[in-house]
Amino acid sequence: MSWDTLRGHLPKSYSPQDQALVRRAYEYAVEAHGDQRRKSGEPYIVHPESVATVLADLRLDARTVAAALLHDVAEDTPITIPMLIEEFGAEVASMVDGVTKLEHVSDMAALPADSRDPKIESFRKMLLAMVNDVRVVLIKLADRLHNMRTLNAMQPDKQQRISRETLDVYAPLASVLGIYAIKWELEDLAFRYLEPDTYVKMKAELAERREEREGYVNTVIQTLRTELTRHNIQATISGRPKHIYSIWRKMKRKGVTFDQVYDQHGLRVIVQDIPDCYAALGVAHSLWRPIPGEFDDYIASPKENQYQSLHTAVVGPNGRPLEVQIRTPEMDRIADVGIAAHWRYKSQTRHDEAYERKIQWLRSVLDWGQQEHAGGSEFLATARDELFKDRVYVFTPAGEVIDLPAGSTPIDFAYRVHTDIGHRCRGAKVRGKLVSLDTSLQSGDQVEILTAKRGGPSRDWLNPHLNYVKTSRARTKIRQWFKQQNRDENITAGRELLERELHRLGVEHMTYGEVAGLFGYQNQDDFLAELGTGDITSADVAKRVLNLNKPEEALKEAHQEGLPQVDQPQKRVEPKVDGIKVQGTGNLLTMMSRCCNPMPPDEIVGFVTRGRGVSVHRQDCPNVLRLDRERMIRVDWGESPPQLSRVKIRVMAYDRAGLLKDIVEVLDLENINMEDASAVTARRDNLAMITATLEVRDAEQLDRVLYKINQVQNVREVRRQKG
Ligand code: MN
Repeated sequence: MSWDTLRGHLPKSYSPQDQALVRRAYEYAVEAHGDQRRKSGEPYIVHPESVATVLADLRLDARTVAAALLHDVAEDTPITIPMLIEEFGAEVASMVDGVTKLEHVSDMAALPADSRDPKIESFRKMLLAMVNDVRVVLIKLADRLHNMRTLNAMQPDKQQRISRETLDVYAPLASVLGIYAIKWELEDLAFRYLEPDTYVKMKAELAERREEREGYVNTVIQTLRTELTRHNIQATISGRPKHIYSIWRKMKRKGVTFDQVYDQHGLRVIVQDIPDCYAALGVAHSLWRPIPGEFDDYIASPKENQYQSLHTAVVGPNGRPLEVQIRTPEMDRIADVGIAAHWRYKSQTRHDEAYERKIQWLRSVLDWGQQEHAGGSEFLATARDELFKDRVYVFTPAGEVIDLPAGSTPIDFAYRVHTDIGHRCRGAKVRGKLVSLDTSLQSGDQVEILTAKRGGPSRDWLNPHLNYVKTSRARTKIRQWFKQQNRDENITAGRELLERELHRLGVEHMTYGEVAGLFGYQNQDDFLAELGTGDITSADVAKRVLNLNKPEEALKEAHQEGLPQVDQPQKRVEPKVDGIKVQGTGNLLTMMSRCCNPMPPDEIVGFVTRGRGVSVHRQDCPNVLRLDRERMIRVDWGESPPQLSRVKIRVMAYDRAGLLKDIVEVLDLENINMEDASAVTARRDNLAMITATLEVRDAEQLDRVLYKINQVQNVREVRRQKG
């Protein structure tokens, strides 16, 4: 191989700059790989060059082809990604980086032997979740294709493993992306290694019947061509090649013999335009009897991946079934290369609709929409809430793929692996490094849980402010663990928790019994036990015991006191319903009408009622038309300024540089204003006391921010002060 060979494969439409980019990448890769050799003994450069050739044949853009040439340099040579950015720009470099990352993930994965195991699907999703440029997957597919073509240089056990993975992971990916040319070749190659005897036998059978088959197909083509010409339809007709693996799958799926599958012949008819497609269909149906239920119009309703074609099946000569696909040349290209068509080189200025549609389709694939395709439908028929954007895919140390909701932590992972691992979890390593237990996991991470011999979860894990746990599964398991503890222990733990919480909140006038009463418990111990098991959290306590502002209460009171009359002096009531402020109503009581339930950003109008304040309707509400115009007023959705409560807090801490700054940062993150801050330091024991007034939204926010301040380094205690 050489530059000239590769150049011969580049699309004719490449500009001189495109050619130059690919050439530079080629020379760079030759240099970088130096005398490296593949298992087969060939110079290493043969591999990237072949991968680039596959992509050039799909007529992909020059950057993809350049990235394909460079795809192994970051992995196998001293070249780094920053060097590639410098040399080829961020786009090419980030594709190389993406391929390298997929390589690592593939190395880590240990896939289950059963192809139907859902872990395999998780792994496919992991691959797509990790790339932000689908061209990375295209390079990976071409890479796998060349590795499969040269698989005989590998050890038999590796051949098996790689073939299995190809069939379970990469061929379905190619199918989802609509790149059938690659899908079929991958499948046949993998099948050859996995079922060598069957493969050889089927191949021989195919060869044996080739002559007869070709004779039959040629006769049929001849008949159809004559008839089409008579109708003035220009067409290119070809027999469709049979792929060994797809014949075999059909035999398995339908429980039929080789002959039965084999006897179904397929024709592909390419005509000039869409009207000719339908005309050709009519001609075929007039020649041979259509088989009911076999007609599909993918021109009127294209498949998700833009595939368009007419499909029909007829009873051909000698009673043999004949499948016919009819489409235009453009449709035919898309049918072969699927998503790759999207990045085909084209003049930059032309804006075309097909291009927009392809982007649309790409989005729907990435959104994990439904898709109907042989081998791909199961893979994609996943509920909306399983969108991979909301999930992370991580590895166990053994290479098993585990999927979790996005934002999951090592504790969630531990409980997912095994309840007992969760209970005994004491630490975690991600990608080999120790991390804190509230770390958010990322797709592709390998997670290892460090466990204690015995013992249980920590009550802190249930604290909603500390973000240790994301999944409800883990939370439930943790609570169950505490429930099973002896009641006395839970009561003791609950009492400690309540004591700490009341102290923190500066509530000293309430007895435990009174707090229990706020939650509806007659028996104080029952209440403390629930606290101990985590069924009631400290945040719940804060909400009940701190009687901070409650606008809904105010509204309720107003209703109870008799509804204010519009023309009477108003009791001060914030025009606020469900936290939404309506502007233009002054101090009038506002209510959302029940007939049309207006919500921002609906266009709204106010109606001054007799005795019930202002009712707010949607402008298009049919009832509005019947209302008295005189009493309509203009209203708008207003920003609803949160009602803030001023709370004094006191922080005790060992003094250090940057202490106050760290506390202010916590408040900033919560968007809390601080006033009247002052700090006093006692020289002798180096203790600082900081007091400040905070403007908080509600008890929950206060509780959260107290926890967070408590976690600032060197802080010994933080609490709300009375007064
Ligand atoms: Mn490679």
